[in-house]
Amino acid sequence: MRYSQSLIPTLKETPAEAEVASHRLLLRAGYIRKLTAGIYTYLPLGLAAVRKVEGIVREEMARAGAQELLMPMVQPADLWHETGRYEKYGPELLRFVDRHDRESCLGPTHEEVITDLVRREIRSYRDLPRNLFQIQTKFRDEIRPRFGLMRGREFIMKDGYSFDVDDVAAGESYRKMYDAYKRIFSRCGLDYRPVEADSGTIGGSFSHEFMVLADTGEDTLVICSNCDYAANSEKAAVTAPPADESPMLELVKVETPGKRKVQVVCDFMDIEPQQLVKTMVYQAGEEVVAVLVRGDREVQEVKLKNLLGAVEVTILDDKGVFDATGVPTGYLGPVGIKVKLVVDNEVAAMRNFVTGANEKNYHFRNVNMGRDFDAFAVADLRQINSEDPCPECGSDLVMKEGIEVGHVFKLGTGYSKAMNAVFQDSDGQDKPMVMGCYGIGVSRIVAAAVEQNHDENGMIFPMPLAPLQVILLNLGIHDESITTVAESLYHELQERGVEVLLDDRDERPGSKFKDADLLGIPLRITVGKRFTKDGVVELRKRAGGEVEELKPEQIGDRIVTLISDGMLAG
Ligand code: ATP
Ligand code: MG
Repeated sequence: MRYSQSLIPTLKETPAEAEVASHRLLLRAGYIRKLTAGIYTYLPLGLAAVRKVEGIVREEMARAGAQELLMPMVQPADLWHETGRYEKYGPELLRFVDRHDRESCLGPTHEEVITDLVRREIRSYRDLPRNLFQIQTKFRDEIRPRFGLMRGREFIMKDGYSFDVDDVAAGESYRKMYDAYKRIFSRCGLDYRPVEADSGTIGGSFSHEFMVLADTGEDTLVICSNCDYAANSEKAAVTAPPADESPMLELVKVETPGKRKVQVVCDFMDIEPQQLVKTMVYQAGEEVVAVLVRGDREVQEVKLKNLLGAVEVTILDDKGVFDATGVPTGYLGPVGIKVKLVVDNEVAAMRNFVTGANEKNYHFRNVNMGRDFDAFAVADLRQINSEDPCPECGSDLVMKEGIEVGHVFKLGTGYSKAMNAVFQDSDGQDKPMVMGCYGIGVSRIVAAAVEQNHDENGMIFPMPLAPLQVILLNLGIHDESITTVAESLYHELQERGVEVLLDDRDERPGSKFKDADLLGIPLRITVGKRFTKDGVVELRKRAGGEVEELKPEQIGDRIVTLISDGMLAG
């Protein structure tokens, strides 16, 4: 590929809207361009990097025995009604009607479509297992698209689905995919961790996420310092403390004029936040629910959502709280509250705590569950933190930020039962197929790789994901001997199967070097003055900046070696 004929529109200025390194650098290096919120064009180099990810995914899927197909992006609403997800999926599902007034949606995921296919095509246990995948553009109307390719509305996903005769066989399919995912992310050269995860709107009983460790990650992981436990903090179980057995003291109402915030109330009443219980009020679907957590804790909304079986939970503002409870925020408490009450299990173990009195300017001391109020449910509802013990072994936990690049789910028979995807078993009985589903954020991986591999001058692609392996700088396009060598190296490398970009532009050496660093191509060859003087060309690794000087005839072999080393390192 010749730079002079390529569309690689690098930018000198950092685009203002880009908050994270990958977004900034992918824009600056001319890999992507924004069309509208969360929707991007992949320019030639961006697309080439995406194709590299796809190539690795396809190889590993084939190795694991999965077959590729391609399903439609437009899906009929009827299928989604069968599983009940047309309502349940919420506003991320982009819905529309066609000219015949048929309701449709753009596929955010394909459980319904694949289950519909398989229920028509697979009849017998002899046709199972099957594992099918596609690589396709997905659409999710994300509430906050951001960080470029990291959280788009339109993005490229690999999604795969397995169908088995029973749980044991489905467990085997899951394990195969789990192993394939580990190979994929290792081959991509990513520093990642598999973690236990929440199943979200996809549903199912069991799931793991694959997280690329990066400070800009939107997920928080807890990792045990001792055992293998690692989980998304949304999911991480908090160990309940033993019940406090001290005697219940008399309930006392205390005037707390204007004292609403936890710390202010604590200072005023001379207690610690650990002795106070907050009452947080949420809208959960149609109902309003109050949640009790200790004063120094946070509600984990995913846990709350799962407990209530709600599509979304949203914390109410002051007005919402007042409308629902008749009490101003700051004075809420469980005693006599008018809405459904759920309690974090830490609170259930406490005795004689402070809460609001459900009356402006008043709090209660010595509140006790069972005596003063009852709960609809007691459950693990709070956000874990680094002071909590590992739920498996009790050792210390470390918290890290991560970017979710893959997710594997054991779905069980939820979809197959809802959609009647049955097969005839060897005993002649019809049984629902047992399913699994497996997603990889193909375009997000490109962004995640850049988050992990960049410096102040630009991106540093790991060899397996690099859109091109070598950039060859001709620093003397008006000098015949330099140009002859550069051109002949270009042809030689191409003949040897090396992916090479020849920078044959009429630009100053300084800007060629700058662009080469920005693009992040792993190997750079420079043909310039050193060739005229000493007959050598320079070979430099983008990662680490190591330089070698070689005769032009040594370059080909050396490059081929470095490329195969770089592919293996991934
Ligand atoms: P997230 O929690 O980040 O929204 P998700 O749990 O909704 O992800 P899945 O439904 O498991 O995602 O989708 C499979 C994979 O697709 C994810 O692991 C992620 O890598 C990728 N992905 C999901 N949403 C987006 C998005 N908006 N932009 C880019 N990639 C995405
Ligand atoms: Mg999502």
